Amino acid sequence: MSSKPKVAFFDFACCEGCQLQIANLEENVVGLAALVDVVEFREVLTGTAPEYDIAFIEGSITRKADEERLKDIRNRSKLLVAYGQCAVSGGVNRLKNNWNNMEDVKKEVYGADYQMPHLDTYPTKGIDEVVKVDLYIPGCPINRDEFLTIVKELLLGKVPKLPNYPVCVQCKLKENECLFDSGIVCLGPLARAGCGAICPSNGVACDACRGTVDNPNKNAMHEILQKYNYTVEEIKRKINIFGVNPEVKK
Ligand code: SF4
Ligand code: SF4
Ligand code: SF4
Repeated sequence: MSSKPKVAFFDFACCEGCQLQIANLEENVVGLAALVDVVEFREVLTGTAPEYDIAFIEGSITRKADEERLKDIRNRSKLLVAYGQCAVSGGVNRLKNNWNNMEDVKKEVYGADYQMPHLDTYPTKGIDEVVKVDLYIPGCPINRDEFLTIVKELLLGKVPKLPNYPVCVQCKLKENECLFDSGIVCLGPLARAGCGAICPSNGVACDACRGTVDNPNKNAMHEILQKYNYTVEEIKRKINIFGVNPEVKK
């Protein structure tokens, strides 16, 4: 019997893009397989296990049946990691919480079929709104290198730490021209770094898919907004895209 840590991957409401990042680790898969025993991973293999050293959870919770399944996984896991922004904060799925009535949401999305039983849904929750989460890996999707680093640190008994400085730092190190100078609103001053400022480096605004730093410098953000003649409402609208709430640091 293998003495390697038993690792499992589970998905809830999501696009499965984060598990695809892991399934596509290419040459690093061999190294990962040498370190852990992947016992459940629906997208990659068949088979189940009764308990896990580490359970990686992707996706958000959108119905009662999800809660029961998640609690069962939690009970059978030593460590539970929420990976990908859907799991961390509800992610893009949380956009539907802007509507008061879930029936309206279902009608909008599914049209005439909206009352079919399998389409039952309630307002989106992040994983830690249902069970205790030991570690978060943010991003939409997650960053593969960051995932591998975190797994290695966990296996070494370390407590992984996410970067706690804004995307602007990585953006400036790349000597990018600031998008605000081109009339584009960017959440880089608030957003948690770790992605290498991939969006602004390609001319696209950061929408804080990795959440915000622990203590976002709101004064600095206000100064930037004033300088470029934008309103706080514009920031709130954008930060809503990934279900991020700066007040709860996710
Ligand atoms: S965080 Fe983004 S990429 Fe990952 S599952 Fe959710 S929507 Fe897909
Ligand atoms: S483009 Fe965005 S991330 Fe880059 S420096 Fe400007 S505000 Fe910061
Ligand atoms: S630049 Fe912003 S939106 Fe793009 S990956 Fe990084 S944190 Fe996410």
